[in-house]
Amino acid sequence: MSKATTLIHSIPVDPLTGSVSVPIYQTSTFVQEEPGVHKGYDYARTNNPTRATLEDIIAKLEGGSTGIAFASGLAAIDAVVKLLQSGDEILAVDDIYGGAFRLFTHIYGKFGIKVNYTDTTGIANVVDALTPQTKLIWLETPTNPTLKISDIEAIAEIAKQNNILLCVDNTFASPALQQPIKLGADIVVHSATKYLGGHSDLIAGLVVTKSEEVGAQIKFIQNASGAILSPHDSWLVIRGVETLHLRVQQHSRNALAVAEFLQQHPAVDKVYYPGLKSHLNHEIAAKQQSAFGGIVSFNLKEDRAEAAKQVVRNTKLFKLAESLGGVKSLLCHPATMTHKSIPAEQRHAAGVADSLVRLSVGLEEVEDLIEDIQQALAKVNAHQLKSLSVNV
Ligand SMILES: *Cc1c(COP(=O)(O)O)cnc(C)c1O
Repeated sequence: MSKATTLIHSIPVDPLTGSVSVPIYQTSTFVQEEPGVHKGYDYARTNNPTRATLEDIIAKLEGGSTGIAFASGLAAIDAVVKLLQSGDEILAVDDIYGGAFRLFTHIYGKFGIKVNYTDTTGIANVVDALTPQTKLIWLETPTNPTLKISDIEAIAEIAKQNNILLCVDNTFASPALQQPIKLGADIVVHSATKYLGGHSDLIAGLVVTKSEEVGAQIKFIQNASGAILSPHDSWLVIRGVETLHLRVQQHSRNALAVAEFLQQHPAVDKVYYPGLKSHLNHEIAAKQQSAFGGIVSFNLKEDRAEAAKQVVRNTKLFKLAESLGGVKSLLCHPATMTHKSIPAEQRHAAGVADSLVRLSVGLEEVEDLIEDIQQALAKVNAHQLKSLSVNV
């Protein structure tokens, strides 16, 4: 069966009433027939039918055994880190989501968990960075915001040989484009706030595990720590999933056209998009993804934060906001927004230049999007010329 069909039909019809839409069970508790005898639901932190439906759907979409839904992507990441003990180490991709960096460093650092940040785009780097304490490898691929690609299958092999769990943050690709568990990963996490929700109207996180054993551990953590997704937000994610395939295909087509436009623009220095042949690991992206997604980043020849700000202030369709993956196009300046919690030196080393701009290419007509970027870039050029003439 095709991916689109599987995806649409992963959402069940309600067995009780035949409702085509999944019912929202807005309740805190469930009546028991006898003490301890119930229909599988006792208290809504532990389990809720709407959330359980979403958890089944995401497990199916990722090809895993168990899905677990959380109040945010960061709560999902937090639950995975809680599998570790004090003294354990994480080997993480260097161009990591800023919030994950903050969580690892400022929360788990206090509890004796150490993180080694490594450029995981090269396999040798991963092997070199392993220590006897490494218990978890943390990948994002593509990364945020420089769209670095790591070879999931090759790194899964290294993880397996060393008895280390491999977790992939699959937020950027979504299961419609990439299924890390099928490539050997043990755990997948999502900020469902992005493509899975797809409409910029909720905050949610998901974990999917390959094994039932790790799944049960995460479910225990979900109930014990309590950062569950609400029934209503679970329903919104389910509703988003219905059109996931269609949306990410169109996001990918639009993003490729935008990336190709930027690549030939005189004010642009570098374009980061895995779908471009010039991308460092384009071949690996083509091997493990069915399309290249909706995020494009670029930096300017004039590598100053002020030049990038000039661009983000002047677009009209691309709205200035953090987040990504929605219907409407958004853009941001990572150095002062999403990645400001990463120290400048480390940020630059990971390729997040001061003039880097990240685009979340939406579902508008692509000609309109390109025109919008073109007029904003023209303003940078004009500004640049003016400052040159002042200098003369
Ligand atoms: C947004 C994001 C997160 C965090 O998710 P929230 O839902 O905002 O908590 C984690 N990883 C990536 C790659 C993200 O883009």
